[in-house]
Amino acid sequence: MQVAFFSTKSYDRTFFDRFNNGHSFTYFENKLDHRSVALASDHDAVCVFVNDVLDQPILEALAKSGIRLIALRCAGYNNVDLDAAKRLGIGVVRVPAYSPHAVAEHAVALILTLNRKTHKAYNRVREGNFSLERLEGFDLYGKTVGVVGTGKIGEVFAGILQGFGCRVLAYDPYPNAALESRGIAYVEKDTLLAQSDILSLHCPLTPETHHFIDEAALQKLKPGMMLINTSRGALIDTHAVVKALKDQRVGYLGIDVYEQEADFFFQDLSDSIIHDDLLMRLLTFPNVLITSHQGFFTEEALTQIAQITLANLSACEQGKYLDENTIVKPA
Ligand code: NAD
Repeated sequence: MQVAFFSTKSYDRTFFDRFNNGHSFTYFENKLDHRSVALASDHDAVCVFVNDVLDQPILEALAKSGIRLIALRCAGYNNVDLDAAKRLGIGVVRVPAYSPHAVAEHAVALILTLNRKTHKAYNRVREGNFSLERLEGFDLYGKTVGVVGTGKIGEVFAGILQGFGCRVLAYDPYPNAALESRGIAYVEKDTLLAQSDILSLHCPLTPETHHFIDEAALQKLKPGMMLINTSRGALIDTHAVVKALKDQRVGYLGIDVYEQEADFFFQDLSDSIIHDDLLMRLLTFPNVLITSHQGFFTEEALTQIAQITLANLSACEQGKYLDENTIVKPA
């Protein structure tokens, strides 16, 4: 297959070239949007990532230029208009699971860093400041951790936190029996909000979960709690969370994803003026830690992303869509 890759970074080229099994790749650094969509002509498929735009006009332009397949090299597909893809006869495949450990462990890294302030200690000690003032944390042991979404990543995350000796509570419309058998109780959303010392989001972004943490939810949180989001930015109403940080209802915020991340994440903008005042406001809080969507970024995950995407391309080329990876199969 002739595949146009969008939003490509050096690591994409490294891993996809390493495992390529006979397809022809064109790597574009541009994000897929209305300006770059013309680059896809003369290809059979596009390979895209989390912040590429696949709305109806772009899908129509892709269909017009002969694109038959969208291969997402990620799990989430909230950026694709699936109805439009179906109507236009474009297949959509993804990588539903690639090292859930990568993302779950990153969520734990955010928790430990916010709690024990290792990022601050690292800088202090390097500058000859050996003071412990303001580095105090808390024991994770015995704390209540709420997990929203107990699929592949949430399950691994819950297991790690149980290993720390935490009491783990869960919220998911489809309870996971494996977790229940390990003593994890499913509770209503309000109970989870009220009881969690740490709340970690691991559900997909859907119309139902959009702003799952909004002003009303923030009012119900345990004062001073820690909120972690490694899932999708729009699960949290960022304006509301800034207010909650200001009046200390939220004591710590760790996010690997941000509602407007598409304009910034994955790019080096260190010499640029950032015009997003909300992002800049978040960065002024001493108890906020932001990483730029790096939860997936481990060697194991990158290997699996490349291998599964390549298997998807090969299968689709032969008209054999792999059921577990297929979101839209053209009629
Ligand atoms: P999954 O499909 O295995 O699990 C998602 C779980 O969320 C399911 O159990 C589902 O029942 C539950 N869910 C659905 N609607 C819900 C709701 N309204 N309330 C609570 N739970 C709900 O997915 P996964 O592999 O565990 O991934 C979870 C999310 O992590 C993905 O959707 C993606 O957005 C995000 N992700 C982030 C990164 C990163 O690099 N930061 C990488 C991969 C995935």
